[in-house]
Amino acid sequence: QVATGALPDPPRVDELVHEAHRRYVDDDDGTVADYIPALAQADPELFGLAVVEAAGAVHDAGDAHRLFTIQSISKLFVYALVVDELGHDVVRDRVGVNNTGLAFNSVVAIELNDGHPMNPMVNAGAIATTALVRAASTAERWERVREGLSAFAGRQLRLNGEVYRSEADTNDRNRAIGRLLRSYGRLDGDPDDVVDVYTRQCALDVDAHDLAVMGATLADGGVNPVTGERVVSADVCRDTLAVVAASGLYERSGEWLFEIGLPAKSGVSGGIVAIAPGKGAIGAFSPRLDAAGNSVRARRAIRHLSRALGLNLFASA
Ligand code: GLN
Repeated sequence: QVATGALPDPPRVDELVHEAHRRYVDDDDGTVADYIPALAQADPELFGLAVVEAAGAVHDAGDAHRLFTIQSISKLFVYALVVDELGHDVVRDRVGVNNTGLAFNSVVAIELNDGHPMNPMVNAGAIATTALVRAASTAERWERVREGLSAFAGRQLRLNGEVYRSEADTNDRNRAIGRLLRSYGRLDGDPDDVVDVYTRQCALDVDAHDLAVMGATLADGGVNPVTGERVVSADVCRDTLAVVAASGLYERSGEWLFEIGLPAKSGVSGGIVAIAPGKGAIGAFSPRLDAAGNSVRARRAIRHLSRALGLNLFASA
């Protein structure tokens, strides 16, 4: 185990990424999400792992180039774009930064907090965040979100039409959340239009490699280490990673920090991105989830790699 400081040399990181992949390749704990019908068809055997260093080196193992929809991981990148545009204070007050202690799609959390969405990593806060993207129309809002997430990934991300339609046909709960926020005066504009953009952002196709590049952009002070493009400011990265650490794994965020010690965000299609500020990011994908909606195998592989690479933020030696 490496303690703190720099990452090992790139060839050693490569070995460790492959070793982490091999270690969990036969792990079949958990179940594939089925509340969005199209997600239930995912191949549960897929398992991709990638590390992208802030210095630019990339390491891919297994199914690191198999596409899946980004789902809730989009929340953290849309949040970063909105903080970049509106600033720390506005977004903190409108969206919040505290964990709800409840599931990602909880309506109770909104009711318990006078209609406040609480934090941008749960659906209520993410919908409130998407509503803050400056745009003259819904089409423009969607385009800005897609362009922004594509800049993080360093390539044009595409909508998965099948997953989008499947979720749009069944997302009564998110529409209810949008309307509830509006009833409390916490969301401007048409809530159904905002939820539509949110549903689209969740249905962008990415792979584990993309997640690692996107995360590494936040680890690199907002500059994409592969394309060299500045996407957001370093202050925005700092703010975003604090919020992600507190709530990225929903009600399991404390457990995650305790075990792994890195800000990370999960999505129901089985992706997780974990970010080591100044060093790089890990992207992992495996569709079988635990009861809170977090990929079991992605969590285990990241836990292993975080230790092997010495990434835990709370370790002083
Ligand atoms: N699109 C999903 C939803 O809104 C995202 C949830 C998730 O990945 N946890 O329900």
